[in-house]
This record gives sequence, structure tokens and C-alpha cells, in this order.
Amino acid sequence: MYKGIAVSPGVVVGVAHLVDSVFGSSEPRLLDHDQLVSDEIQLLDSALAQSATELEAIVVKVAQQLGGAEADIFKSHLEIVNDQSLQEKVRGLITSRHLTALSALQHVLQEYAATFARIEHDYFRERIADVRDVISRIGSHLTPHASGAAPGLNADKMNADEPIILVAHEILPSQAMSLGNLPIAGIVTETGGGTSHAAILSRSRGIPAVSGVSGITNDVRSGDLLVVDGREGHVLVRPDSETTSAYRKMQREFFDLKDRLVLNRDQPARSADGAQIDLLANINNIADARAAQKVGAGGVGLFRTEYLFLTHQDVPDEEEQYEYYRQVIEESPQRAVTIRTLDLGGDKTVPYLGRRSEANPFMGWRSIRLSFEHPRLFERQIRAILRAGRHGKVNMLFPMITTLEELRFVNRIVEETRRNLKREGVPYGEEVKTGVMVEVPAAAVCIDAILRETDFISIGSNDLIQYLVAADRDNPKVAHLCEPLSPAIFKVLQMVLDACKRTGTPVTICGEMAGQPRSVLTLFGMGLRRFSMSPAFVPTIKALLGSITTAQAERFSHHVLQLKTSEEIRTYLSERLHEISSSLEVFDST
Ligand code: PEP
Ligand code: MG
Repeated sequence: MYKGIAVSPGVVVGVAHLVDSVFGSSEPRLLDHDQLVSDEIQLLDSALAQSATELEAIVVKVAQQLGGAEADIFKSHLEIVNDQSLQEKVRGLITSRHLTALSALQHVLQEYAATFARIEHDYFRERIADVRDVISRIGSHLTPHASGAAPGLNADKMNADEPIILVAHEILPSQAMSLGNLPIAGIVTETGGGTSHAAILSRSRGIPAVSGVSGITNDVRSGDLLVVDGREGHVLVRPDSETTSAYRKMQREFFDLKDRLVLNRDQPARSADGAQIDLLANINNIADARAAQKVGAGGVGLFRTEYLFLTHQDVPDEEEQYEYYRQVIEESPQRAVTIRTLDLGGDKTVPYLGRRSEANPFMGWRSIRLSFEHPRLFERQIRAILRAGRHGKVNMLFPMITTLEELRFVNRIVEETRRNLKREGVPYGEEVKTGVMVEVPAAAVCIDAILRETDFISIGSNDLIQYLVAADRDNPKVAHLCEPLSPAIFKVLQMVLDACKRTGTPVTICGEMAGQPRSVLTLFGMGLRRFSMSPAFVPTIKALLGSITTAQAERFSHHVLQLKTSEEIRTYLSERLHEISSSLEVFDST
């Protein structure tokens, strides 16, 4: 049994599917006897031509959208595709060693990787990432993938009778986005913590998941039976039949409970004494917006727009963004949709905004800081959101605001953009409100000043926690510090909630805490009435809040705020949760 970090609740028994690289096995693969060298070279040439055409289009679009410097990255990729010595090396291996084109590419990549590794200068050594990108691009034209699936996630290999459990060192954002199209029932990764993008995506699909399981990819082979216990953070490899049937029983009970809970979708969200609560959804794409509707979410509290950019080959232009946002709004009829501007960087990078290597990416060039450096891109996104704003009730949210100067700068850009749209006669939503994500401690400390210059706030507890405790949210080694149930976190949250109460500013919490029963009990007691979470958690949180009164929750939070350690808080809240509803305990990870 492996112990990792429980990141998405539930239990599932299924067969392992190891996520390959584009190249799959590292064993050289030879052409079959009936395969001609000339045919294989033709396949290679056509993959090279397709890659070059793709890159040429990207260069033009990125140059228009972002400017020459960013387009240069793709120009250099185009040069690599067209590099005669690279092409000759690959052709040579097909001809002389009868390797398949894919295998020959892989061989050449390994050669380059070995050469680059010897370079002393950091910048040049790291250019291997570009070579790898290009070779993977060429390789992807030689590999038949399931449509829409990212490299390494091949639906053809996933036709087992048992549910599929994905096992990977790391799941890239582009791969994570393809999960929706594939029959995946559980996820296990070696890297990542409770709030990494892979964890967030598993939760939004309601798939049990465990992260930080070091070494598992060496032990597990595709086809092995696995148990994923997403509440305890356990992964059992090749369990015996007795253990398997015990877990199968838990799996049935868990999914039966979920099915029963979702029947509350049309009931209003209220506490036992009738206090009204907004239970909103965090979404990444249109499919999530539909899922939010299905579970009866009261709107979209956080639409993470970066996933549109992450799954796009190049930068989506204003029209594409506008269309996408409009569709999301139309999937949420009569409900407010809060659209967050780009939050790239950290664990989410796209090559067209420059691949910078930073010692501390979460502390560096990410989120709104990146938008400031690309004003044209930022302005276009604001235009698209304002324009989509006339199709429903829309709010615009700015991530990672750290100082009042940043907020003022953003407000100025929004005002200017509104004026431009008006001058151009382009229709837009005049009622769109703007808000700030409070997720950097500096903003929480200066909350009073922020509240004077914004319409609403949303607390991003995932980042607020990592920055408050100085522990990378993606690093399993320090995951114990990224603990929401801690005195420091609740003190900061209390400060922010009190300030909002004083000024009457609407406040939501949209970090992962918002979907975790023990945190919710405390936050509700502290006066919070708006929670935004993965759609899969809405029915659970509705049932939980429906079974306590405001006075009860206030007693809990009052007590929690007196406690000195996380251990005490966890124990106290676990006991309360058990008293209120023992069946909902399975939805709170340890
Ligand atoms: C957060 O930081 O809590 C948040 C909701 O934003 P993200 O997880 O996308 O960084
Ligand atoms: Mg955040």
C-alpha cells in the first residue's frame, strides 16, 4: 500500500493505465518485414510538413496577437523542424537501422538531450525543452491519438472492462483537459499536492485521486489491479481478493450516496434555520458549466479562463474568447458567472508566452503580473469578457492582486476598455462588476484599502495558504504545511470576512476549502455565505449546511478560533462533523 496525499474523495477499484510519453516505450521499434523504408520516410516527411504548416500558422497568429518576441519562440521551433541535420539523422536511422520513424525521432531526441546536458550555460542547456517540444509535435503526427486526447492519453488502449485508473509521474494541464473525453475513474500521480491543477481537475470530474505517491510508476504496470482511496490518500497495488471486495463495497456505497445527494439539486441552499447560502461552481470549461447546472449550483463563482489558453495551440483571439465566454454564460441561465482573467504561470505554462525558467515559479512571473507584461493580450481578454457580459449577469475577477497600485492600474484598464468599446459602437455589458481575488497575504493585510476600490472579492484560499505558510502548493514534501484547518489561516480569513462585513462587500471563497465539509462548517460560522467549489461537491455541501443551524456553526467557529494547533482543529471539527452527519465524512479528506 502506498500513502500519498488525498486530493479528491471517493474510492475506486480499477485497472492501472500508465500515462506514456508520446513515444511510449523507450525500446527501439523496428519496421516489420512488410514495411518499406521508403514508406516510413514518406510518413516522416508528411509529419514534418504538417508540423511546419502548423508552426507557420502559429507564428503569424502569435505575432498578431502578442508581438514579435513571443512569435520568435515558434520561429525557432520552425527552424528546428526544418533543420536539415536533424532530418537527415532521423532518415538515416530509418534507412540504416530500419527503425520506425517514431523510434528514430526518439533516438535523435535522446542524442540531443545527452549533448545539451553537457552545456554549462543554463540558458542554452534549457533549450532542450524546445527541441523536445518540436520532436513531440512531429511525433504526434505519427501517432494515432483519440480525437482531442493529449499525447500519452490514448483511448484505444483503454478498453478494459474494469474502470481505468490513470497512473502518472505528472499530469500536464493539456492532458488533464482531455480527461473528460476518456473513461477514467481514478487518478494517481507521483507529483503534485491537494491544489495542483491535476487535483482540481479530478475533483471537478468527481474522480477519486491521490497525489504525491512517490515511486508508484516503477511498481505498477498497465493492467494491474489498483484501489484508489481518495479520502485516506491510500493506493493499493494488486490487492488480494478479500481486500478488493471490501473496497468494492465502499465504492458502491460512495457512489450510491453521491447519487442520492444530487437529488437535492432543485432545493434551495439553506441552513437548518433558514439562512440563505450561495453554493456556486468553479469551472474550467463548458463541460464543467453543464456539470454545474446538473448539480444545481447557484451560478459560477470562478471560471478559470486559463484552461482555454492551455488547450489552445496558440493564443485565442478576442472573437474566440468572446464566443467561448458567451457559451459558458448561456450554459448558466439566470445565474451569475464570474470570469477570472488569465492566471497562467506557476504550474500552468504555455509556450507562446515565453518559457522562462524561474527558481520559484509560484512566487514569480505569474497571473496578473504576466497580464501586465502583455497589455494587448490583457486588454483583449477584458474586451471579450465585457462583450460577453451582455448575455447574462457577469462579473470580472482579477487574480493575484498584491498591491493597491495594481488594483488601480487594472481599474484604469477596464475603464479605458469600456470607453473604447463605447466609442467603437461595440455592444457590451454595462453592468459587469469587477472584483479582486484575495490570495496574496499582502492584499489580505491591506484589505480595507482594497475594499474601497472594488465591487466584490473572492478569497483564493489555495494560494493564500501557500503564500501564508511559505510552502509550495504542488510540492508533496511540504504538503503538511498547506493545511487549511490551521489557526493562521482562520485568523487571516476572519480578518478579511470582518472587513467585508463592515463595508457590506460581497465575498466568496473559491479555493478548495469551499468544498471541504470541516472547513465549510467553520467558515459558515464565521459569517461566510458564498462558497464556490468543484461542481461535484455542491450536493454534499448543500446537505451539510442544511443539517446545521447558524447558532451551532457560530459556536464551532468561535471554538476553532481559540484553538492553537491544526491537530486540535482537525480533531474538534471531525468530532462535530461526525455528530452532524457521519455519512458526509467520506467527502472530507484527511
Ligand atoms: C485559489 O488560489 O484558491 C484559487 C481559487 O485559484 P487557483 O487555484 O486557480 O490558483
Ligand atoms: Mg489562485
